[in-house]
Amino acid sequence: MALIVQKYGGTSVGSLALIHNVAAQVARVHARGDGIVVVASAMGDETDRLLDLARALIPHPEPRELDALLATGEQVSVALLAMVLCSMDIPARSYTGAQVRVRTSAVHGKARIEGIDTERLRADLQAGRVPVVAGFQGVSEHGDITTIGRGGSDTTAVALAVALKADECQILTDVDGVFTTDPRMVPQARCLARVSFEEMLELAGQGSKVLHLRAVEFARKYNMPLRVASAFRRGAGTLICEEESTVEAPVVSGIAFNRDEAEFSIFGLPDEPGTAYRLLKPVSDANIEVDMIVISASPQGRSDLSFTVHRDDYVQTKRIIEAILKGFPESTLEATDRVAKLSVVGVGMRSHAGVAARLFETMAREAINVRLVSTSEIKISLLVEEEKLERAVRALHTTYALSVQD
Ligand code: ASP
Ligand code: MG
Repeated sequence: MALIVQKYGGTSVGSLALIHNVAAQVARVHARGDGIVVVASAMGDETDRLLDLARALIPHPEPRELDALLATGEQVSVALLAMVLCSMDIPARSYTGAQVRVRTSAVHGKARIEGIDTERLRADLQAGRVPVVAGFQGVSEHGDITTIGRGGSDTTAVALAVALKADECQILTDVDGVFTTDPRMVPQARCLARVSFEEMLELAGQGSKVLHLRAVEFARKYNMPLRVASAFRRGAGTLICEEESTVEAPVVSGIAFNRDEAEFSIFGLPDEPGTAYRLLKPVSDANIEVDMIVISASPQGRSDLSFTVHRDDYVQTKRIIEAILKGFPESTLEATDRVAKLSVVGVGMRSHAGVAARLFETMAREAINVRLVSTSEIKISLLVEEEKLERAVRALHTTYALSVQD
């Protein structure tokens, strides 16, 4: 008998009809004789609705009270789902995070899961019952309701799977799995049968929205196999697991992209120790995350510095940098928020040369200017003009033969 944790997101439980659909799927696993624990998110956009409700009343609600409010979204969906299951003669019990005791830190709105008490869940499983657990929430050591950050139900599911030593954690959602790239941009994109944790972390970190980054980190840390599949259609989806050493990995598995970028380039800075620090420290002090950084020497003892931030931080960063540059009268600043980043990801890059050369060859052929580059062992990221992004992604998808084979 296998033990599976299945997580259904907001769109999968977005209506009563969809809750019936979920119940039917749970029933199938239960009928097979496997143990199943279900984790559900709030119905549709319920969490946003609750947030709007609070903010319409008070602009900055007390975080403890906001968590008490937001946690109700999940409480509704698990109760409804458990009711339907019971009506189908499948013994089910809904639980809030506090009832299970999903123990978290006390940082309201972004609490960390510290441990999960599994006694009640194990007793249910032993008795053939289906626990249906509210995602996204827990309880602090003071007994207060906490939430673990938007989109956190994926993490709840993985944490439960780890605590229960489940065989697999399945994230059932509105897409068929993890694709070579976003199929809305490249219709030939293919659903990947498997990807490694490392690749998934890069893809999720670079803007592929299928899975919550924290959930993937958690799964990797505890080596919990994760499967992303459709909540609506049959299909094996994508298995995310440890890299298989026996199978030769494809050089490139996927291409992720992110439009929310802004770029700053400062030319003619003094080429001496401490310049980058003087510019970037105030940016980081303002809690602005700097992503790509390139420093290059230019003639006459000068150097140039380029970096990127999230587009939402563009205006604030510009203000900070312009103020600092008053102390560097010979430098010039170019800033734009019309740039996008794409990342080519694959564990096979480790053992293959020439990935970057083919990438630049493709950009040359397409006459797309590469503004910045950064690399890791299994990833090459490029910053390009936003309007060229789509063409770049399509061309690279062809270059690395990622399309559906005919
Ligand atoms: N309902 C929560 C949210 O919308 C948690 C989740 O969906 O995973 O952020
Ligand atoms: Mg949601």
